[in-house]
Amino acid sequence: MQRFNWSQLDSAGQLTALARPALADSADLAANVKAIIAKVRAEGDAALQQFSQQFDGLSDNPLRLSEAEQQRLLGLLQPERKAAIELAYDNIRKFHAAQLPRDIEVETSAGVICQLKSRPIGSVGLYIPGGSAPLPSTVLMLGVPAQLAGCPRTVLVTPPGKPAAIDIAPEIIYAANLCGISEIYTIGGAQAIAALAYGTASIAKVDKIFGPGNRYVTEAKQQVSQDAKGAQIDMPAGPSEVLVLADAEANPAFVAADLLSQALVSDSSTLLDNVEIQLAAQLAALPRKEIAAQALAHSRAILTADLATAVAVTNAYAPEHLIVQTRDASALTEQFDSAASIFVGAWTPESAGDYASGTNHVLPTYGYSRTVSSLSLTDFYRRFTVQQLSAQGMRNIGPAIVTLAEAESLEAHANAVRLRLAALEKAGQNT
Ligand code: NAD
Repeated sequence: MQRFNWSQLDSAGQLTALARPALADSADLAANVKAIIAKVRAEGDAALQQFSQQFDGLSDNPLRLSEAEQQRLLGLLQPERKAAIELAYDNIRKFHAAQLPRDIEVETSAGVICQLKSRPIGSVGLYIPGGSAPLPSTVLMLGVPAQLAGCPRTVLVTPPGKPAAIDIAPEIIYAANLCGISEIYTIGGAQAIAALAYGTASIAKVDKIFGPGNRYVTEAKQQVSQDAKGAQIDMPAGPSEVLVLADAEANPAFVAADLLSQALVSDSSTLLDNVEIQLAAQLAALPRKEIAAQALAHSRAILTADLATAVAVTNAYAPEHLIVQTRDASALTEQFDSAASIFVGAWTPESAGDYASGTNHVLPTYGYSRTVSSLSLTDFYRRFTVQQLSAQGMRNIGPAIVTLAEAESLEAHANAVRLRLAALEKAGQNT
């Protein structure tokens, strides 16, 4: 871990301490992803087959996972995993059901009725990462709100299994089926995003794409969302990150376990020392210790003069996950203005929200949480408005509309109202 003493840094040094690892060769990334998308648009299923071979080592990918295959794979699922998926499903469902949007109707002036309505998006595509490990938890995070919203068509895509096979994890299929999803395709990466956004002979296009993924997936989502013929997306949800804010009373073992990630901010140098000792011990015991060691090499510890500065540093970083392990953790919560998801107190590791507390784990990364919201049920709806004026309503607000339209030199707008006001005057109506 790199260590920084916040009060001894000038403003450039403070920016460096908060800098995220640069997205390497991002120009190349954009060009590569653009080429993948163009090929899928031009060649459809044939391009998907070729990329499946090239990136996932699978030839003759049937693309759609048949009902029979799904049943065969489900037969391999261990009962205790089923039960754990069901517990997570129930909690995620409870928390998201409470987010159901309500239509509203307001009479803004006498005779002028305005409504805000929400209706489910027609077709949604869920990207479930699977390059390094299958993520059934992400199926629940996306599938539960799609099911609650009542989206008429929900499609799931995920890379083929490892070693190269159409066998995707049975946990993914079980979670998908719980969420009422049976249209499953064994494709991943930028090519899967292109297929969802533009459609191919075997995959019909969707209106909106959800889900996290690696940099190819995230870049492809950005590109298709900028094309009117492409698809909407949920958010930039890239490689995960976490910031731990801890004071002298935090348990160094808990902090270290939560920290195989990015940043630790504390007002106690003793805590920083103890966490480093714990990190070394816990790292040695991890099965994927090389990967964890690489991640840790990029992580940093920032010592601040007091807790208030630690909060300010945290807000400046805008972490995806923020773990707060301080004496008054819940009291501090209101002071955070930029984290995507906050984990409060010693008994709330990030894993709780990642799997089973009920909150959504699809979250904006790379500082986007300053302005982009965490995924919620409303993301699966489109909102639109309805208004209706009675004759009285037209009399009440028509003159103001004419004045505003004239001020903007929009004569046609002004005329649409003048005509009606004149008709009302002529008819002498009172209603
Ligand atoms: P993935 O499914 O995102 O990517 C695998 C696919 O990448 C492969 O199918 C392949 O087609 C493509 N690919 C691999 N190498 C390529 C290359 N050289 N050129 C073009 N395409 C290539 O799975 P992953 O790689 O394991 O990444 C999952 C990511 O999702 C992780 O970074 C994880 O942190 C992130 N994640 C984020 C959140 C969030 O909410 N922000 C939640 C869960 C996971």
